[in-house]
Amino acid sequence: MDQILNIDEENMTITIQPYVNFPRLQTETMKRGLWNGGTPLSASTSGVLSNILFNGIWQSSFAYGPGWRSIHSLKVVLSNGDILDVGSSALPRAGKSWWQGPGPDLKGIFEFIHYGALGVITEATLKLYPWVGGDWNPVEEEYDKPRLPENHRIFYIEFPSWASMSKAMYEISHEGIGTHLDSAMDAWNCYFTTPHQEESERLFREKFFPQYFIYVVLAGISSSRQLDYEERVLRRIVAETKGKFREDLREILTDWQGEAFRSGNSPRMLRHGGYSMCRLSSSQIETQEYFDKVHRDILARHDHY
Ligand SMILES: Cc1cc2nc3c(=O)[nH]c(=O)nc-3n(C[C@H](O)[C@H](O)[C@H](O)COP(=O)(O)OP(=O)(O)OC[C@H]3O[C@@H](n4cnc5c(N)ncnc54)[C@H](O)[C@@H]3O)c2cc1C
Repeated sequence: MDQILNIDEENMTITIQPYVNFPRLQTETMKRGLWNGGTPLSASTSGVLSNILFNGIWQSSFAYGPGWRSIHSLKVVLSNGDILDVGSSALPRAGKSWWQGPGPDLKGIFEFIHYGALGVITEATLKLYPWVGGDWNPVEEEYDKPRLPENHRIFYIEFPSWASMSKAMYEISHEGIGTHLDSAMDAWNCYFTTPHQEESERLFREKFFPQYFIYVVLAGISSSRQLDYEERVLRRIVAETKGKFREDLREILTDWQGEAFRSGNSPRMLRHGGYSMCRLSSSQIETQEYFDKVHRDILARHDHY
């Protein structure tokens, strides 16, 4: 149950069994100029399929959608032993080529948060996306300091307020630039960049990282001119929303160059407390703002980080 069964380079799909994890899938696809379009912040040994079924929110969901948006077809074993093909493979002559429809599709009830209760998935065909990052496969020597994949640029930007940060994020989304657009909160950055709790807490208390902060990744998928164009658009939006590029933080935040594509140090966020998780998982911008306020209030009153 840990095999890659097929990589269809022409139709940009991969068929996997459930125990294929992120590094394996990415290593095999990236050398073919393709990838699955993202990574969760859990350990990269998480199964790709189990992650999608369980959550599937990736650093680059901004460009590629949540994980289940990639599922073309599933093979499901039901509790009575029946085997069900759902998704486009169930349509006559459609193959495993398309993620949804036409018409109603049973795939919807198996692709997200049933925790295996409705059946065991033994095979999944997932969509792949263009990878222009070249030979990118961080090794142990690069731990903490992974290289940025080729043809990608990463930017760290601070804002004076929640409102200006949200406005910039809306504008960037509407311009259709970039693959990653994430609000990387101060607590989170404190965890990533330090191997010890004491050091993380010190950085947090000293307000080392900005509170209203995003990172953006641009990918030159069609050409380097596209990259230049996207950077110009980004710089205009940042100027209009009173943001500030924090080049001085680039080195300490090098970790994002890896975390954005394949999780490495992310599980550090669970060392203590769950503040950063809460802000991450709330979806609407108003809800995020509310969570942020409540948690900062708790942090200010209790010596628990
Ligand atoms: C520090 C940390 C950070 C995280 N950050 C993120 C994040 O940024 N984005 C995100 O999406 N998630 C995130 N997560 C959650 C993460 O997605 C899950 O913890 C992870 O995917 C579990 O992987 P696993 O392979 O151990 O799955 P398991 O725990 O084995 O399975 C997950 C669920 O899927 C079901 N399942 C597994 N295999 C099958 C199958 N073949 N058929 C049917 N059901 C099946 C299981 O019953 C279980 O309910 C984070 C978790 C941690 C600990």
